[in-house]
This record gives sequence, structure tokens and C-alpha cells, in this order.
Amino acid sequence: MKRWNGWGSAEIDYPVPPSALTYLNDALGPPEPGPSVPLESIVRRLPPSRLPDHPLVSLDPELRLRHARGQSLPDWIALRFGRLDRFPDGVARPGSDQDVEKILAFAKETGTWLIPYGGGTSVVGHINPPPADHPVLTVSMERMRRMSDLDEASRIATFEAGVTGPHLEAQLRARGYTLGHFPQSFEYSTLGGWIATRSSGQQSLYYGRIEDLFAGGRMITPAGRIEMPPFPASAAGPDLRQAVLGSEGRLGIITRACVRVSLVPQLERFHGIFFPGLEQGAAAVREMVQSRLQLSMLRLSDSLETDVSLALTGNERMVRLLNGLLRVRGLKDRDEKCMLFMGITRARGLARKTRRMALEIAREHGGVHVGRKMGNEWRKGRFKTPYLRNALWDLGYAVDTLETAMTWSDLPTATEAVLKALRQGLEDRGERVLAFSHISHVYATGASIYVTYLFRLAADVEETLARWKKLKASASEALVARGGTISHQHGVGLDHLPWMESEKGKLGLQGLGALAKVFDPGGIMNPGKLFRSEWTR
Ligand SMILES: Cc1cc2nc3c(=O)[nH]c(=O)nc-3n(C[C@H](O)[C@H](O)[C@H](O)COP(=O)(O)OP(=O)(O)OC[C@H]3O[C@@H](n4cnc5c(N)ncnc54)[C@H](O)[C@@H]3O)c2cc1C
Repeated sequence: MKRWNGWGSAEIDYPVPPSALTYLNDALGPPEPGPSVPLESIVRRLPPSRLPDHPLVSLDPELRLRHARGQSLPDWIALRFGRLDRFPDGVARPGSDQDVEKILAFAKETGTWLIPYGGGTSVVGHINPPPADHPVLTVSMERMRRMSDLDEASRIATFEAGVTGPHLEAQLRARGYTLGHFPQSFEYSTLGGWIATRSSGQQSLYYGRIEDLFAGGRMITPAGRIEMPPFPASAAGPDLRQAVLGSEGRLGIITRACVRVSLVPQLERFHGIFFPGLEQGAAAVREMVQSRLQLSMLRLSDSLETDVSLALTGNERMVRLLNGLLRVRGLKDRDEKCMLFMGITRARGLARKTRRMALEIAREHGGVHVGRKMGNEWRKGRFKTPYLRNALWDLGYAVDTLETAMTWSDLPTATEAVLKALRQGLEDRGERVLAFSHISHVYATGASIYVTYLFRLAADVEETLARWKKLKASASEALVARGGTISHQHGVGLDHLPWMESEKGKLGLQGLGALAKVFDPGGIMNPGKLFRSEWTR
């Protein structure tokens, strides 16, 4: 069973190892265990639904609660402290395009606002109900998860949009193919959600971001159907797929998507490399990507993230051996060591050549190759790390992440500014913040930075939320001022709305609003997300 107020399956726990606990205690101070109100106490308080009966709609209170929030830190705070004031009035579960059209007709008749819902893994408030006078209906795509076609000659697979990562990969792998889209939320997030948020998977360097993989499909809007044939390329004016990508449920419901698939690779390897500092590591990574080496992942942690990741292994003996090895291979104890995971996904012969060239570049920048063991461990635990959030909350620590992308020239100053904003963000409240980052997705022209930050929960819900708001605002201001995008992969939702105008401009946002008016003249699709409308949190 999926946790209703945390991450993932209730059967999976990821306890914090004692070495990491000591580390956190030293860095942030001793915590007070975080609150966790029981599900029943919220279900009992749910207001009655404002919706009339409909065969495709459930009004079940627990189901409404389970679809009320996503995975952002404010969502966690609301759920764990039991401070929720808004719920969808019902949850619809269409099984076909015709069902989706019936739901849209029902919404128009009853003045209902709709929130398309994939896996509910949004971390920026995408799926939260607005404070509306209208009834609000969440449209869960969970029943629409079939692969309807696999065109092997063209390497295009067509799926219903509610398919989750594991179901999509299982259907493709049974035929020898893969999509290769592996966001860390892979277990629960859906194809429709990936498209609607412009998601990026961990191996996007090889397979591409979702915008490279999304070849066409169908979106059903209140004004009718939009069909996007999977042309290999087209010069017939602006590409409608670009309007659908990142549309965050504002234009309509994506019901099917044609995606570009690859043969399951012959070989997939993840290597660990340590650099004496971030500057050297970043220079190596930049050179690798600009040399067009066909790697599948380059993930470079700063020295603090490297320390925390090693503490989190809970394997002190392994860390001692590793430090010994690095010393023998020329890294000094005083070096601010940075760990790189390098992925290679290729045919066997090509992989060897790529590996040799990449390691040569790494060596030129002082990198020490430590083999594949750490890379294998990372790969095994790649979807497990988010489970740590549950244990950390129980201990009394809040964890949040933010991400951005900028050119290589802006990257060092922007990263420093964001980390500084976070580390100093709660000084006025006498609280410390642990903030670290990694370069997560790389491009010839720049890279994305993924920042994780931790702070202590307060006993009081308002104070906890105030801490988060302060940190979120100062980090976002810092990254936008230094040339970063407000989001590289998580999207806009509610939490990034205040920074949209500085990124798109007034006229740009008016253009997006005008587009939404054409597809959704009544303004019933996920109002308030992506760009401002009648209400904003
Ligand atoms: C632990 C964790 C790790 C994450 N790691 C990554 C990562 O590595 N990379 C990354 O890109 N993101 C990541 N995310 C963010 C999140 O998983 C992505 O934004 C994901 O694409 C959301 O997919 P979903 O199916 O859960 O969509 P939801 O959260 O259900 O919805 C997100 C938005 O998409 C819209 N939507 C969903 N389905 C449809 C549809 N069929 N038609 C129209 N609109 C639709 C919704 O209305 C909403 O606006 C992570 C989140 C968590 C909690």
C-alpha cells in the first residue's frame, strides 16, 4: 500500500544509519520527533462533496484525502501536521478516451474544475485543489496504462498516459525495448505526468529528456481533441507537442503518447571517480560532454554531498578503505573530494572506447577512478533514497530539494549563491541549514544543479512552514538573479509561480494564457497552476 503522508510503499523503510545520525546532529542540532496525525482523524473532518453522483466518479472520503496533496515539503507539512483545508470533491478514474470525454462533459455541466492526476509525485503543488467556489474533481489516470502499439520498424511505442515507470518498462522489456526514462520518482510517476511537467530521467544524457522521447499522441481538451502524429520531423509551423510538454494539466488531459524507444542496451555500467575539488570535477564533466562522448549519466556531487553520501552508506569500513585508496592514488586528506558517477550505456565495443576516453579526460583533471562497485551500489539504491525522507521526518528533520539549470559560465557563481542563501536562510531564527548539491544533467552549453537541504522541524506547523517559505524564496531569488531557470525538471505548479514572470516576461505569460483560453475556454483545467489565474496560494 502506498503511504498517504510520505514517500512510497508502506512496506519499505530506509532507516538513517547511525553514522549519518551523528553527522546530522552535529550539523543541525538534536531534533524533536516530527508529528504524524493519523489518517482517520483527517478523514473524519473531510467536508461533504459538492458533486452529484456520476458512474465514473468516487466520492469516497479516504480516496479524496489520498489525492489531495503531492510530495512537496508544504504538502508533507500539511499532511503530517493534519493541517489540510482543501480536498477534491471526488476522484474520477477513466478507463478510455471516451470516459475522459464524459468526465469533461460532466465538468462543464456542473461547473466543476478538473485536476489531471498521474502518480501524484509532484513536488511543486501541481495537483493541490484550489480554494474554489466550484466543485473540484481530480482525474486519476491510473486505469489507463496499456501499451496499444509497438512499431518496431520505427521504434515508436504508444501507451495510455497513466502508465507508471515500472509498468511501462515491463511492457517494453518483454519485447526487448526500453524507454530509458528514469526519474527518481520512477516507481510511481506516469508517462502523462512526465510530459505535462517536462521531466528528466537520470540517464537523459543518452536517452534524452521527455521532450526528446515524446513523439506525438493525443490530448483531450474541453474544446476537443488535439492529435499529434509521430512525424520524425516537420516544418509545418510551430510544433504543438511543445505546447503540450509542460502544460501541467492546464490545457487538457493527455490520454495517449507515442514515445521513441531503444533496444535494451547490451551493456550498462556506472563508474565512480573522485576529484580533488569541484572545479576540477566540473571541468572534466564539461569536457566530456563537449567532446560528445556518448555517456548516459554524469552526476558530480560537491564535497559536502560526497561526505553525506558516504555517511549514509553506514559502512564505515568501506569509507576508511576508500579514503586509503584515494590517498595512495594521490588525493590529499585536505582535498575537498567530489564524487562523480559516470554512466555508460552502449554496445560492448563502443562502451570500451567511450570508457577509455572519458577516464583519460578525468585523469587530466586529477580524477581517480575507483571502479564500478560504488556505481553498482548507486544503481541498486537509485529509487530507494527518497524513502529516507520518511525516516528523517520521524526523527524531526525536514528535507527538500530544488533544481535549476544555467550555462557553464553562470554555474559556479549561481551554485554558490543558492547554497549561501540556504545556509544563511534561518540564521535570524537561530537555526542551521545543511545544504549541498550535485551537477545532475549536463549539456554542451550548461548543466542542471540539484540542491538538497535539511533543517529541523519546529513543533509548530506555522513556524515549520515559515522556515520552508523563507528558504524557498531566498534560494529561488538567488538562482534567478544569477541566470538560472526556476525549474530544470520539476515544473512550476504553485511553488514556482512567483518567478514565472521574470523568466517568461509579461507578454510571454499573456501568450500562454491566450493559448489556454482556446483549448479551455471555461478555465476549468487545473486553474491557478503554471501561470496566475483567479486564485493563487
Ligand atoms: C522522490 C521524488 C523524486 C523525483 N525525481 C524526479 C526526477 O528525477 N526527475 C524529474 O523530472 N522529476 C522528478 N520528480 C518530480 C515528479 O516525479 C515529476 O514531476 C513527474 O513527472 C510527475 O509525474 P506524475 O505522474 O506523478 O504527475 P502528477 O504529480 O500526478 O502531476 C503533475 C502535473 O502533471 C499533470 N498531469 C499528470 N498527468 C497528466 C495527464 N495525463 N494529462 C495532463 N496533465 C497531466 C497534473 O495535472 C500536474 O499538473 C520527483 C519527485 C519525487 C517525489
